[in-house]
Amino acid sequence: MGECINRHELIAAIVDTPSEAADKIAVTDIGTRAILAMRQNEIISIINKMPAEDVEPVKHGKWDGEGDGYADGKIILDVWYCSECGHCIDDGTDNRKMLPKYCSNCGAKMDEETEE
Ligand SMILES: [Zn+2]
Repeated sequence: MGECINRHELIAAIVDTPSEAADKIAVTDIGTRAILAMRQNEIISIINKMPAEDVEPVKHGKWDGEGDGYADGKIILDVWYCSECGHCIDDGTDNRKMLPKYCSNCGAKMDEETEE
């Protein structure tokens, strides 16, 4: 899977980053400086022509625990629901550290605070 880069931020970075190559060219060497500027414009043009991919924003969620039994006065959460789609994990355990990092149903990244 490829990585995604923000086109506008990339172009801004190219334009805003001082050129080490340009520093090596004498200020009076206008021809070489012009070629360097043309090359930069060509690169920006190539970037602008690259097709864009629609990137779905990462959905964030958490596992909401549910339980009906108690141990030492504390409720045992052993059924977990995805906060985004309601997908249920019912493995009968109260080990929240074993819960998946992503919902297998909707793909939400489960990095929000899990309910205690
Ligand atoms: Zn889900």
